[in-house]
Amino acid sequence: MLQKIYDSLLSLAYPQSCQICRDSVESSADGAACRQCWLSTRVFTGGETLCAKCSAVLSLEKSAPDQTFCHRCDDHFYDAARAVGLYEKALAASVLFLKTEPFVGRTARALFTAAFENSPFRDATVIFPVPLSKKRARERGFNQAEILAAVLAKEFALEIDRQTLARKIHTPLHRAAMDARARELTVENAFEVTRPKLVENRKILLVDDVFTSGATASACARALRRQGAERVYVMTLARVL
Ligand SMILES: [Zn+2]
Ligand SMILES: [Zn+2]
Repeated sequence: MLQKIYDSLLSLAYPQSCQICRDSVESSADGAACRQCWLSTRVFTGGETLCAKCSAVLSLEKSAPDQTFCHRCDDHFYDAARAVGLYEKALAASVLFLKTEPFVGRTARALFTAAFENSPFRDATVIFPVPLSKKRARERGFNQAEILAAVLAKEFALEIDRQTLARKIHTPLHRAAMDARARELTVENAFEVTRPKLVENRKILLVDDVFTSGATASACARALRRQGAERVYVMTLARVL
């Protein structure tokens, strides 16, 4: 009974039909996608070969036990990046829904929490959500990265710092025509550290919704490193293949 009331209350916040197949979403826990779509979404299990640094998918099978690298991320400034799974189906729907409503369903929350728990990032002591520009934050009313950061902060009793890392210039939304290098140039100098003392010698976990080329994460990490951050880790809900 209580669960029913809770579900109907939540249905105000979460979409009632699956954003992928339009079937009904039977449990509020599943959020923007139905159970079936969650089951067919590729969540990383450890059975894949991922780049040890940026988690690029090198093979969907487990190959050599040694660490493997994609080398496209060699000059990225973060130490390592991890994601729940591929940016497709239920994870893509969750990311898109989170851009319109400040809501993460229980299924996505549990997967995000588990991904952090299994990551080599457990020594991080503070979470920095990747900031939006002031303009975009005003338009949207919230920062989706902060919603995800709050999930981990609550579960692992970590501090969130929403102020120290700031986006100083408004970068246009990624256009399809923009290649990776153009995107990198646009974001390279977009971030600044407003309170360097809160960064120095710290192990920082950057949180964002989706990892695309890694340019944004790397630009944030670069700004943090310049101020003496000891480690910069990156956690996202999804990762583009
Ligand atoms: Zn579905
Ligand atoms: Zn890589």
